[in-house]
Amino acid sequence: MAKLLCKWEPSEPSGRCFLYMDDYPLPEYDAEHTWMLSGVCRDREPSFFFPSDGIGVEIARKVCATCPVQTDCLEYALSYRIEHGVWGGVSERQRRRILASRKVGAVATPAFPVDAAS
Ligand code: SF4
Repeated sequence: MAKLLCKWEPSEPSGRCFLYMDDYPLPEYDAEHTWMLSGVCRDREPSFFFPSDGIGVEIARKVCATCPVQTDCLEYALSYRIEHGVWGGVSERQRRRILASRKVGAVATPAFPVDAAS
């Protein structure tokens, strides 16, 4: 049986899924990518997670809601600034908002005490 493994590649900014056969050995994965092996989307068409409208986004998000690696998937997409597709049940627009809010949070919470008098 064939299985899909979705993985973002730096050379393919829109993201990409790979097709593997069960009897074909999976490549060596480091800890950063191991979660991908448990993604529900392994059995879905890659285009399913790159919808062209809001309805498609909602449908993809419902699938992601059942995925055991939803948090890992979202953090991966945020870490690598993946701009396209639904990752971790979060749309492109929502990821931009999360990243923006984290930047604001980083400014509001300095890593060291700030002395206002200096
Ligand atoms: S959260 Fe969604 S996109 Fe991410 S691995 Fe799971 S099903 Fe795939």
